[in-house]
Amino acid sequence: MSDIRDAARRHLIPHFTKAEAWQSPQLPVYVRGDGAYLWDDAGRQVLDGLSGLFCVQIGHGRADLGAVAAKQMETLAFTTNWGVVSPPSIEAAALIAELAPGDLEHVFFVSSGSEAVESAAKLARNYHVARGDEGRYKVISREWAYHGTTLGALSITAVPRLRAPFLPMLWDGVRNVPNTLHATTKEQGLERVRAIEEKILEEGPETVALVIAEPVQNGRGALVPPDGYWPELRRICDKYGVLLCADEVINGFGRLGAWFGSELFGVVPDLLTFAKGVTSAYAPLGGVIATNKVVDEIAASPLASFVHGSTFGGHPVATAVAVANLMAMREEGVVENVVAHKDHLANRMRDLHDTYDVVKEVRGMGYFYAVELMGSRAAGRDLTADESAGLLGGELTRFIREAALHIRADDRGATMLAIAPPLICGTDELDDLATRVAQVIEKAAAWLA
Ligand code: PLP
Repeated sequence: MSDIRDAARRHLIPHFTKAEAWQSPQLPVYVRGDGAYLWDDAGRQVLDGLSGLFCVQIGHGRADLGAVAAKQMETLAFTTNWGVVSPPSIEAAALIAELAPGDLEHVFFVSSGSEAVESAAKLARNYHVARGDEGRYKVISREWAYHGTTLGALSITAVPRLRAPFLPMLWDGVRNVPNTLHATTKEQGLERVRAIEEKILEEGPETVALVIAEPVQNGRGALVPPDGYWPELRRICDKYGVLLCADEVINGFGRLGAWFGSELFGVVPDLLTFAKGVTSAYAPLGGVIATNKVVDEIAASPLASFVHGSTFGGHPVATAVAVANLMAMREEGVVENVVAHKDHLANRMRDLHDTYDVVKEVRGMGYFYAVELMGSRAAGRDLTADESAGLLGGELTRFIREAALHIRADDRGATMLAIAPPLICGTDELDDLATRVAQVIEKAAAWLA
């Protein structure tokens, strides 16, 4: 084992990685990136089909973003957003507000998506308390939704395997409702919203603070809602005085072919959480955007402030990078690039379904897809528990590595591949992606046979 892998094994605690994979001599060590490609320590070129982790919108290797970070560090490396402020966080907030739909005008910065989700939950509670609506504290999230891993965010996350070891530490104010899996017609979508309404009524609307949902949900594999779902969800939340948060940590900043998913689905949520793509991951930054209504109520209340904060919220370097990234994305037409090529990717993804008998379903939109596997479509046979365990226990990861590809084997409720290429990809890279994903599926089919 090379020294670098040995040092990783001895000194780094990996995130969500089994010891066997971490200790493997095959552990990928990436040393450089350019556009949609990564290079490992042996000089092997790998296609980044996951944008790092749904975040490198503008692609790798942008020296201009590095230069902005360096300049900001030299000028003013740090100040908080507590009582004082510096220009980059103001500029970033103004730019994000300009891009966000409707009157989502006010930005609270943190450093990750989990913190963004926790901030949204606290902001909702703070809002209701400011209105004298002290009884509202519960949060409603959807089955299989991933909203982060810190204890507050994990309480809202609805992925059983991630929660199980920590159950005694989790907050019990969260209720789960159905997601939109296999809801394809408008009527089916409205039924799923009715389930949310029923949950609000069952709990008592006077106890419910917030409904949180991703426009297209990642957990359970790129669940695209049917037409009418989001406007109806907006209507139901308004009817019962519940705030609505769109978690756009993945969806936001172009992933679906618009700056925000909420825009595509025709709603203005009260709160919108973001992270990842806001800086194209060149610096850690997250946040929650709030409407005038939310912020004005809090400002006018005896509390007169959002009772929440963190040292690095609005960090000058991260926010300067966000401004540079968003300006570059705008000037270079990165979102327009997704719009121009999304049908091409959709066709290539559909081809995978049509070509391979082990593909159960392909779901997604924009540059965001999930490929769900099964035993045989022709025979109507699902994967056995042993087959799923084998594929998810390392075989899929091996096939992905052999295809010189960076995508993810996803076990949240099914056996899936998660695909989310950088938003700068054109036809060539998307074809390359589809070819490499096909290799992975072919190997999975051979392994199953
Ligand atoms: N919300 C959603 C929808 C996410 O996909 C994620 C992470 O993938 C999070 C929240 C948590 O973000 P982070 O990993 O930055 O804490």
